[in-house]
Amino acid sequence: MAEPSQAPSPPIPRRVNAAVIGAGPAGLVAARELRREGHSVTVFEKGSQIGGTWVYTPEFESDDPLGIDPTRPVVHSSMYESLRTNLPREVMGFMDYPFVAGGGGGGGVDADGRRFPGHREVLRYLEEFAREFGIGEGIVRLEREVVNVAPVEDGSGRSWKVTSVNSNNKEAVEEMEEEVFDAVVVCNGHHSQPRIADFPGVKSWPGKQIHSHNYRTPQPFKDQVVVLIGHAPSGADLSINIAGVAKQVHVASTTVVDPNNNNINYPSQSHPTFPNIWIHPMVEKACGDGSVVFRDGVTVFPDIIIHCTGYTFHFPFIRTAGIVTVEDSSVRPLYKHVFPPAWAPGISFVGLPHRTLLFPLFELQSKWISGVLSGRISLPSEEEMMRDANDFYSAIQAAGVPTRHTHNMLATAALEGDDYSDWVAAQCQCRGVESWRRGMFLASRSNGQARPETFRDEWEDGELVIEAHRYFASLKP
Ligand code: FAD
Repeated sequence: MAEPSQAPSPPIPRRVNAAVIGAGPAGLVAARELRREGHSVTVFEKGSQIGGTWVYTPEFESDDPLGIDPTRPVVHSSMYESLRTNLPREVMGFMDYPFVAGGGGGGGVDADGRRFPGHREVLRYLEEFAREFGIGEGIVRLEREVVNVAPVEDGSGRSWKVTSVNSNNKEAVEEMEEEVFDAVVVCNGHHSQPRIADFPGVKSWPGKQIHSHNYRTPQPFKDQVVVLIGHAPSGADLSINIAGVAKQVHVASTTVVDPNNNNINYPSQSHPTFPNIWIHPMVEKACGDGSVVFRDGVTVFPDIIIHCTGYTFHFPFIRTAGIVTVEDSSVRPLYKHVFPPAWAPGISFVGLPHRTLLFPLFELQSKWISGVLSGRISLPSEEEMMRDANDFYSAIQAAGVPTRHTHNMLATAALEGDDYSDWVAAQCQCRGVESWRRGMFLASRSNGQARPETFRDEWEDGELVIEAHRYFASLKP
């Protein structure tokens, strides 16, 4: 008699012991998704509280204000005192835990119910998120800095040795711990290692220079002449902030086109709203006599140059050659910005993409990693992942996208094929970023570009706000 045919039994999910490095938004949501998938999780956080970059501190790196030495003592957060979010709260929160006023980050005596709230409100939201999902004591180890991650090969496969120290007493050998994990999810944040503008004379210029990483309040710039390089969100905010006390603020902006290209749209000009702000093309050179010359020939004698030129990626705890390299702000090789093909899925990175909706993307990437680790979601072979990564790098190069924009979702959107977050959601077989959220992101970006000084208080996307709240109501049990 023939054996009765048996349906193949579903694979037994693999439960791993995972280390998460960092308890900012990416690390918190990674911990939640890993736990939801049944994995056991330890989050290492070098700071004394959760929240990552949203933990404001008046401290800054006074000994190395440009952050040139990567081995310097680092103050993690780059928040400035007056910072309000550059995205409306409806789009900023995790997709299934809305960041709404009066709940999920609102409420309480010191609540900040504004649509573009201050940094403290975001921190409150993250603390509530962690409480709600049990990401606290027993899971998060505060003041533990990961100083080394290295692969361990044993007969049963590969695992990872994670070495951590007491972040307040790094030299104390007796407090150093080595533990072995099946997987390491890297969520260490990317706004602590400054990128500095490069132009002739910058290194020998005799005046003071800082990076926006070390900006906290405008008071130190009272009555000064300030040159500010870069006009992305931080540069735009700081120029307005500083203009309230400074004598003059001169902003070097890439959106003012180089006259040598015979393509001059906007030569140096005064700001339409702030009479002591001037917008210039980029800096041509800085000179020994203390002057700074812009590309259209306008010359000023500033007291200080502030570099608002962004950040680069830095993984000082990954010393093993070949896991990834960071060159010109590009972390390589990575399959879809997350997995180094040779080490997947044991090592993964959450949060490298930027110029996109960050918290929702952290959530989707974390779901993907968690599902891959349990075996519910498959990855292509190492060779296929490497081919995919290399094809992407070739496409970037062929399209003339600078290497430093490898993880810039606006710069690479056309090259990614599908929308990247949709692609990740499809891997997880979960809902992707809602269309109202995308619409609101784009509307607030263009409003911010058109009206940098008022976009946080005046907007025209009221219809989308209604749609967002309808969606949030639908999430309630
Ligand atoms: P982080 O928030 O930086 O958290 C990383 C954590 O890892 C930190 O707690 C750090 O202490 C810890 N860590 C690092 N290394 C180690 C180690 N070796 N061992 C243990 N722990 C470690 N995003 C928005 O969506 N909206 C905004 O309006 C917005 N405004 C911003 C304004 C500024 C000035 C800056 C700098 C960023 C802004 N961002 C904004 C982006 C912001 O960085 C992200 O919202 C988010 O905080 C990134 O989360 P993360 O968890 O990846 O990193």
